[in-house]
Amino acid sequence: MRESPLSKLLLQLLRPQLPQMLAMLRKFVLAESPSLEKLPADHCCGIVAGEWRKRKAHVERVPQKRRGDHLRITWAPQNARAPGQLLVLGHYDTVYASGTLAKVPFRISGGKAYGPGTFDMKAGLVQALFALDALRQSKAALRKRIVFLWTSDEEIGSDSSRKLIESEAQRSDAVFVLEPSFGPRGLLKTSRKGVGEAEIIVHGRASHAGLAPQEGINAVHELARQITRIQEWNDPRRGISVNADIIEGGTRTNVIAERARAVVDLRATRIADMRRLERRLHSLRPSAAGARLEVHGGFNRAPMERKVSAAPFVHAKFLAAQMGLRLGECAAGGGSDGNLTAALGIPTLDGLGAVGDAAHSAHEFVIVKTMPERAALLAALLASS
Ligand SMILES: [Zn+2]
Repeated sequence: MRESPLSKLLLQLLRPQLPQMLAMLRKFVLAESPSLEKLPADHCCGIVAGEWRKRKAHVERVPQKRRGDHLRITWAPQNARAPGQLLVLGHYDTVYASGTLAKVPFRISGGKAYGPGTFDMKAGLVQALFALDALRQSKAALRKRIVFLWTSDEEIGSDSSRKLIESEAQRSDAVFVLEPSFGPRGLLKTSRKGVGEAEIIVHGRASHAGLAPQEGINAVHELARQITRIQEWNDPRRGISVNADIIEGGTRTNVIAERARAVVDLRATRIADMRRLERRLHSLRPSAAGARLEVHGGFNRAPMERKVSAAPFVHAKFLAAQMGLRLGECAAGGGSDGNLTAALGIPTLDGLGAVGDAAHSAHEFVIVKTMPERAALLAALLASS
């Protein structure tokens, strides 16, 4: 008789664990953890840390002044001198302010778990814990050290965690990101657009619109011309989008506007396009004589190009097939911390977290029966990468 593969065994171990997984999901969701509120975020961090300590993992809390503390958890294989490292990346912060639970309670109904942060991405954190449990139960021989890094500010751009993520990624052979998957089929995200934000400020000259219009330089008009210009850089076929989403300028109708400002959202699928967009932005010149332009900003997260995900995706698909599951992939328009690790050239597979939908909304949910499957997939990846 042929021995059944480890991935199948992991799934068999995890399926009966669903009630326990849901109990833990409830516990994590009830600990609200808004990115912008340190106190509740730290409380949630403590609860997550406690679960890992129970399992005798090595837990380090990385203290933060303004944001919730980050968590770095290490699990080393028995033969302590592991030759490599795998990084599992996630965040415990959510986009919901404290008190959201009172309006949007945690509940399970029709095979779905609802509540703030269930899908993005507390279910992912639960799956990681149970993945480790299953690995231990299966007695699989781990070849590499595993670092689980849970950060507190992914939803607001990862300012306080970026360095930590990058230095941990640099020590790793591969990065598995527990961001939610896409759609009801749970597609993994094998490429992500790079995301940026730029600010264009126009300085003109104020003057009386009736008595001395010739003396004025209208900053609002100049900004309008600049916006028309950058609008032409949009190229949906190449995955480039440029959108002025906030504009302001001027003071009153009889005063020629002295100042105007636009905030522009930037996205690109390719690193080369990102660089070209940044160059073009910073070489914008005023068209009206006497007007002055200031341009700030650029890309915050570089594109995650598919080539860094291709190999780990093929491997994940193979493991899923061993478990009798079909695994698909997609390109995402939004960025995640996976963009940061991919930009370093480290093989990165994103969207390995929960299956569900409606992230960042009151209807956010997880399809509960997929939780053991995704935990098993992560466990199998950790045992074999
Ligand atoms: Zn997320």
